[in-house]
Amino acid sequence: MNTEKTILIAEDESGIADSLIYALKTEGFASTWVQTGKDALSIVADKKCDFVILDIGLPDMSGFDVLKKIRQSSKIPVLCLTARSDEIDRILGLELGADDYVSKPFSPREVTARIKAVFRRTESSDKNTDSPFQIDMNKRQITYFGKKLSLSRYEFDILVLFANRPGWIFERQKIMDLVWLEPDDSFDRTVDAHIKMLRAKLKAVNPDVDPIETHRGIGYSLKDNL
Ligand code: CA
Repeated sequence: MNTEKTILIAEDESGIADSLIYALKTEGFASTWVQTGKDALSIVADKKCDFVILDIGLPDMSGFDVLKKIRQSSKIPVLCLTARSDEIDRILGLELGADDYVSKPFSPREVTARIKAVFRRTESSDKNTDSPFQIDMNKRQITYFGKKLSLSRYEFDILVLFANRPGWIFERQKIMDLVWLEPDDSFDRTVDAHIKMLRAKLKAVNPDVDPIETHRGIGYSLKDNL
């Protein structure tokens, strides 16, 4: 296949790298594995890959520094692997230029699903990017296809979270952590219930569009090419 994409895996743990290499092969991707930030940067500089899976905890330099260096010269998609929640906060909070992240431990299938989602998103970003959502944070008001939505506090916050990062897949746990003041243990059902309500309200405005995508066993995202 001449359209085969090469995924660079920058990860110092061989067990994790092995499972990723296998999962990528299953999905038709080629892969290159390096264990240091320095090697990752040289492969990106030589344009020998189409996508980077970047562990934040590399032995020679932090993945954050690797990402900053990559972004000085390249827009190549980057998915970060994180082991700590404060790293996730940094990825989400600062405009470091990551395209998505996965927290350890993860299933290799989840990683390939996210890679495919990022490719879909980056490849469609040249097309029409007019969002049907207009958000007024001061009034806490969202307009959808020109109609004002009547949303609960949580529905509003979930939709803002999604709309700020179209195409990102948010785990239920992460939605709960970011939106709820007091996250509870039944987050799966709580988040699902709010998404269901949100979907119904969006459907009432435009029955032909279902902007929220369900990723089975992972979480939810907002479609990026609405
Ligand atoms: Ca590591």
